[in-house]
Amino acid sequence: MTVEKMEAVEIFAAGEKGRGLRATRELKAGEVVFAEASYAAVVFDSLSMQVCHSCFRRQANLHRCAQCRFAHYCDRTCQRAAWEEHKQECAAIKNLGNVPKENIRLAARALWHMRKYGGKVSDSQLTTLDMLEDHVSEISPEDLKSLQADVQTFQAYWPRNTRRFGDSYVSHILGVIICNAFTLSDQRGLQAVGVGIFPNLCLVNHDCWPNCTVILNHGNKTALDSTLHSQRRIELRSLGTIAEGEELTVSYVDFLNLSKERQRLLKQQYYFDCKCEHCSTGIKDDLMMAVQDEDGKKPSPEQVKEVTELSLQTLEKIEKARTMGDYHEVMKLCYECLEKQEPVLADTHLYHLRVLSAASEVLSYQLSFKEAAGYARRMVEGYMKLYHPNNAQLGMAIMRAGVTNWHAGLIELGHGMICKAYAILMVTHGPHHPITKDLEAMRTQTEVELRMFRENECVYQSMREAALQGKPMAEPIEEQAESLSKSRK
Ligand SMILES: [Zn+2]
Ligand SMILES: [Zn+2]
Ligand SMILES: [Zn+2]
Repeated sequence: MTVEKMEAVEIFAAGEKGRGLRATRELKAGEVVFAEASYAAVVFDSLSMQVCHSCFRRQANLHRCAQCRFAHYCDRTCQRAAWEEHKQECAAIKNLGNVPKENIRLAARALWHMRKYGGKVSDSQLTTLDMLEDHVSEISPEDLKSLQADVQTFQAYWPRNTRRFGDSYVSHILGVIICNAFTLSDQRGLQAVGVGIFPNLCLVNHDCWPNCTVILNHGNKTALDSTLHSQRRIELRSLGTIAEGEELTVSYVDFLNLSKERQRLLKQQYYFDCKCEHCSTGIKDDLMMAVQDEDGKKPSPEQVKEVTELSLQTLEKIEKARTMGDYHEVMKLCYECLEKQEPVLADTHLYHLRVLSAASEVLSYQLSFKEAAGYARRMVEGYMKLYHPNNAQLGMAIMRAGVTNWHAGLIELGHGMICKAYAILMVTHGPHHPITKDLEAMRTQTEVELRMFRENECVYQSMREAALQGKPMAEPIEEQAESLSKSRK
């Protein structure tokens, strides 16, 4: 199954962090360090009817498994490809009479897989689920209670006629899933749709300013053999030149948080204290909390405190209104908050950026591209001062801002941003990823339009207006891909 090569990496003792992976030769920016198929993966409970359980594509009119009535597939081909990993699950769901939560389904799939192929599927798999950390001894009493309940559900779910696993072993596997499972996104990388286990990837330690990124690339269905395709696949890609012997790292959390907050999130989800350089010395914390400083005229500390508190409260309200789909309310809150923020907070302040992001997202969803474009540009300018230049989230944000500016008729700005995003995604996603291919098409299209614009601006604008009135061109921005970060779902 995991047939891909691991020649560029080796395991080493990474001090306090336990085991880690390091490069065995120099790696270049955008290089695939390794690719790995999932050991096991499942679709989220909430999306079981909207996402194919075989290839994880989001699709309308999925075909339902007639036996369990739970699994859904694009077509017979996907169903056949998935039968090997679904058949025991299918019978277990029928016997139990209901469908257990995703983490229990994932644990069962992992253990069926282990029974069939062994803990180590091939020489290129560097570790086993048995050897991974579960952190069960560190979890809170409350979480421990729910873990024990999950163990019982698992035991009821596991087929009676096959050899059983002891409770403590099941609890180890569930613990491994909590701190090592990776969120899988759909084919476009836009929405988180499921969760999977990738043993080699579990060996890559965290750094808030990492030298690698993980991207899902299920590959081209016709080009890959169907087993690999249906098993889902990640790529670890290097973000810059990595020296021989250097440790490989990825980030488990979004960098756009203060170092204290990132440390808190990491401790809570992954049970370690981040001692990376950016956390230890608080690199960029000052920018993320910076205040206006025009000609040395700074706002008073009281003013800063007032606006900071107001921003925090408003961000909560924005989130609430957004979940309820009340976009009118979101925009009202954004306008009020931005007016207060602008004279006080700097353009890299986190709370300011979060409001700009909400405003541009909602406005482009409502097809108010002209207004959205300005907010999107300011957001991206702030992001570029904070993120690693090859951060995947930065690339995606620039892409969305570029599309918004393009739709607003700001073709020069739009084209410039689309080119910038393309350059980043060539590193983080690679030339074969569906999003990179989309971007390439947009780059060509905007290039043609830019030429037209330079020849005759008037004609260009009226053509754009007509095109936009005909059809909404923006895709609604869904739950932003957390596909790059580990999830405890
Ligand atoms: Zn499918
Ligand atoms: Zn079934
Ligand atoms: Zn850190």
